Amino acid sequence: MGTAQRPRPEVDRDSAPWWEAVRRHELTVQKCEGCGVLRFPARAVCNKCRSREWAWVPVRGTGTVYSWIVNHQVFMRSMADEVPFAVLAVRLDEGADMLMYGDLAEGDPAALRPGLPVEAVFTDVDEATTLVRWRERD
Ligand SMILES: [Zn+2]
Repeated sequence: MGTAQRPRPEVDRDSAPWWEAVRRHELTVQKCEGCGVLRFPARAVCNKCRSREWAWVPVRGTGTVYSWIVNHQVFMRSMADEVPFAVLAVRLDEGADMLMYGDLAEGDPAALRPGLPVEAVFTDVDEATTLVRWRERD
């Protein structure tokens, strides 16, 4: 796998703690301290109760395939040896409105189907970056 050549994610103020947890091979989401709702991706204000207080809490790292694409085109030369690859949108088991993205770490993209159970896997790309990827689970 050529993950070492991949472009690095853009980390911003809201997502930095998430990336730090991923670095430790932990998957987290925000939990509103006002109403308790879980949310992802990160944002500063709760959509439900408008609270600005939250904590990062761990999730199991399991979900189901909501959607995906299989990329056959070499858009970036650094990823030429990975084409074709599948990028998944995964609904977390903790909440259907929480979608996480990542590529299919192993397995046949042709076997993907909506609702397929998947689990997160972590790939350490270098000293600073770990990627979340997905694979089918039983
Ligand atoms: Zn809330």
